[in-house]
Amino acid sequence: MSLSGAGKVAGVVGWPIAHSLSPQLYGYWLQDLKLDGVLVPLAVRQEDLTSVIAALKRAGFTGVNVTVPHKEAAFAIADDRDAAAEAAGAANLLVFHENGRIEARNTDAVGLTESLCAEMVRGKEILLLGAGGAARGAVLALGELGAAKIHILNRSTAKAADLAKKLQPMVKAGLTAGGLNEWADRAGHADVVVNATSAGMRGNPPLELDLALLSKKPVVVDIVYNPLETPLLKQAKAQGLTVIDGLGMLMHQAAPSFEAFFGVKPRVTPGLRVALEQALNRSEPYVIGLTGGIGMGKSETARLFAAEGIPIHDSDVATARLYGKGGLAVEAIACAFPGAVKDGAVDRAALSAQVIGNPEKLKQLEALVHPLVAAERLEYRRNTSAPIIIFDVPLLCETGAEAEVDAVVVATAPEQVQRERVLARSGMTAEKFEALKARQMSDTEKRQQAHYVVMTHKGLDHARGQVRMILADIRAKLKQHA
Ligand code: NDP
Repeated sequence: MSLSGAGKVAGVVGWPIAHSLSPQLYGYWLQDLKLDGVLVPLAVRQEDLTSVIAALKRAGFTGVNVTVPHKEAAFAIADDRDAAAEAAGAANLLVFHENGRIEARNTDAVGLTESLCAEMVRGKEILLLGAGGAARGAVLALGELGAAKIHILNRSTAKAADLAKKLQPMVKAGLTAGGLNEWADRAGHADVVVNATSAGMRGNPPLELDLALLSKKPVVVDIVYNPLETPLLKQAKAQGLTVIDGLGMLMHQAAPSFEAFFGVKPRVTPGLRVALEQALNRSEPYVIGLTGGIGMGKSETARLFAAEGIPIHDSDVATARLYGKGGLAVEAIACAFPGAVKDGAVDRAALSAQVIGNPEKLKQLEALVHPLVAAERLEYRRNTSAPIIIFDVPLLCETGAEAEVDAVVVATAPEQVQRERVLARSGMTAEKFEALKARQMSDTEKRQQAHYVVMTHKGLDHARGQVRMILADIRAKLKQHA
């Protein structure tokens, strides 16, 4: 992905975001409809959501999709809300209007409604598992499709009861609530079972349910789509039950968002489904996060990995692209830091002058730049076929980017060596060095977070030997897990 030169730009915000299929989904439609645009996946921490949304608005984004865990916070940030968002108390879509207002919408319910057929639900008794954001949308969708009764079972019984109470005035179906431990009493009555918990999602343990108790042979729906065949669906299939996976809902909830961002209504087609299935089945590379304080030898270590044939994404180069002519950060920086953009590109010296010694301004800048650079890394990871890749990130541990990687490698050297190396650089002063160091996590803390450490003060051959040992260790682990 290039974040420069694109037409309309929208985002998807979540934490983490690597699991999101939205970039591929939107990419398919953009290509199919021959539209110039891009959907940027943005890993945004809870505490940064408000400042990132403000920065994206300034950067000219048309809006963002919102995923876990930000749906309720996004709802609160908005100036206006559509009826579906009001009903759900959560937003999965923020539209940035030209008049500066942010509108919260929620398309989860419509996504599920479109992906199920009314005959399956009308007049039926539904067992709904979960009481989170998606379950709210599911109650509204099942109500809309004419369900007679919906029993909400959740790990936290109080949350299920609260949901039933809040949503009862909005749906005709009778709502009741209980704990997941009531499965045995309820299972025999269900015509349809819908899992709207995040149990069974990649990395999460599945629910322990006895499906033999489903005596009415219900249809089993799982809105989790990664993996496509969840443990629940696998078990249901084995019992001879009809199953529906979460991809239909995903595609249908995305269609109105796409229209809001890019102005054209896309179609949900079998071709799109095939493309998403392929994306889900792709094997992911092993990602090494390479970092190190200023003067610690990170760049030299990166060159040694490159010499071993490991592809590298360099976050500094990505930042330069964002700051260059047509780069996605330019407009937002021009707005927030007057005088920092010259001839259509960010003037780094002018920008530094405004942020150095001004923590508030620095935070504002980081809220914009870090998620955009992370988005480039994600795209790089998706587009590579190499089994091992490197993310070279100077502030890996400071920005939470270690969550994107499988192992952290820290380049290090004794403090005295670091000092000598940095002060030998042209234009460097002791004050500048101290200011730069103060922005970074200490070397000791970094090494504590490292899976591997490369000592860079013992000569190139020594460092090369360590790099080779790291790669041999990782390859052996990958072989073990293959
Ligand atoms: P929330 O975090 O709001 O809710 C999570 C729900 O899962 C809660 O009910 C929680 O129970 C329950 N839960 C989590 N872990 C367990 C566990 N180990 N055992 C039992 N229950 C558990 O998430 P969302 O509602 O937003 O999303 C839920 C799932 O739906 C996610 O996997 C998401 O990816 C998927 N989804 C799919 C969509 C699609 O288009 N296909 C659209 C939206 C969501 P408790 O309240 O007790 O914590």
